[in-house]
Amino acid sequence: MKLQSVNPFNQELLDEFEVFDNNNLEQAITEADQAFNHWRQFTYSKRADALKRLANLLKKQRDSLAKLITCEMGKLYKEALAEIDKCALACEYYADNAEQMLAPVQVATDASRSYVTYQPLGIIMAVMPWNFPFWQVFRFLAPVLMAGNTAVLKHASNVPQCALAIERLVKEAGLPEGCFRTLMVGSNKVEQIITDKRIKGVALTGSELAGRQVAKLAGYNLKKSVMELGGSDAFIVLDDADLNITIPTAVTSRYMNAGQTCISAKRFIVQSAIADQFVEQFKQAVSQLTLGDPLDPSTTLAPMARADLRSELHQQVSYSLKQGAINLLGCEQGEGNFYQASVLANVKPGVLAYQEEIFGPVASIIEVANEQEAIAVANDSAYGLGASVWSQDNERAEQLGLSLEVGNAFINGLVKSDVRLPFGGVKRSGYGRELAAEGIKEFMNIKSVWIK
Ligand code: NDP
Repeated sequence: MKLQSVNPFNQELLDEFEVFDNNNLEQAITEADQAFNHWRQFTYSKRADALKRLANLLKKQRDSLAKLITCEMGKLYKEALAEIDKCALACEYYADNAEQMLAPVQVATDASRSYVTYQPLGIIMAVMPWNFPFWQVFRFLAPVLMAGNTAVLKHASNVPQCALAIERLVKEAGLPEGCFRTLMVGSNKVEQIITDKRIKGVALTGSELAGRQVAKLAGYNLKKSVMELGGSDAFIVLDDADLNITIPTAVTSRYMNAGQTCISAKRFIVQSAIADQFVEQFKQAVSQLTLGDPLDPSTTLAPMARADLRSELHQQVSYSLKQGAINLLGCEQGEGNFYQASVLANVKPGVLAYQEEIFGPVASIIEVANEQEAIAVANDSAYGLGASVWSQDNERAEQLGLSLEVGNAFINGLVKSDVRLPFGGVKRSGYGRELAAEGIKEFMNIKSVWIK
């Protein structure tokens, strides 16, 4: 079996790689284990120096790395550049803050002295998706390394070049050999890896199905796991929203990365009083999106990452139309991996697009009478990743935001991950947190020390 790197824009086979046999796998895990014994002894300041060198390499190679992302998974080049910049920022942030986040905490008890200390666990495994092939890995890797752990990566099978490029960068940054290893394996090897006693935890970003399988394996083997799964984020437009600000963000949130983002707005829940105006202006703005070569700066809507994902999306759209949704725009497959920028209206309970995650450039519009109904509809979802609320009254919107069953509530702003804020979901969007101080503590032995 080979892992293939195929350009989603023109289906050109860019490269292919042999998968690891058991010897390769054993060697990589042994290296990561040996590296742990060495790396954990490094002071925070020595680790920080290494992470800063890694950030500098990302910055220096920004153009070529962004081009690699675009050619391998299809996103717009300017979006790929922003992705690389964010990875550098994450390395710098944890280099600057990890020591203070993980400083021992003194606690007054019946001991003469007692405190909480944070110690690394060993090798942590990452199972990652293709949609942000660098960022998803770096937001896991920067805190894991600064904590003194080492890491192995099973990346999505369609981004092997990105997976190898990250391994190369870590090596070039001068981290001890084996601190981070890319495992060139398919998902059929994940069980064997999680079962290995040297693997101490696993983080997965991806679909609910993959999350269930990996969480089950981690649970059975009594290993800590963090699950960042799908979402069907609500974008709630109240009757006093300023549409000049709301519409451009609505379009960005739904259609960037060809709609293949866990926290993109998927359900547009709009108060009736402003619905006609919103729908008209939104449709107008979406119809301006231009499909094309993602390396061409004039292209504003990228191809989807794989043909099977595009076909699956079209099935979801066709089924929703049969169930009573109305086609306001698009709803057609384009050439190759392209899917037209699409808008569905009349998306009611029972319609597939109301219930399932729609992972592509298709917006669902749901009209509601008032705030109470907006909250009820937003929470009537199996997912709970993010949501945004739009109103000229920040306080009104904030109150509504606090009633939403999500891990990330944004008021008058695009839902995005920020290295300074914890990121994760509730309900079927998963558990645990990445980023900020909460993220770095997920894979640590939080040890209590008590001295008489
Ligand atoms: P998957 O969830 O299948 O892939 C994510 C990662 O999990 C990949 O590395 C994949 O490996 C691995 N994986 C898949 N199945 C298993 C398994 N049974 N055991 C262990 N590892 C597994 O995403 P897809 O690429 O198939 O995309 C399908 C859907 O997933 C999308 O339509 C979307 O709904 C959702 N998704 C959500 C993301 C998010 O950020 N929330 C990101 C990506 C997808 P391999 O590639 O080798 O199969």
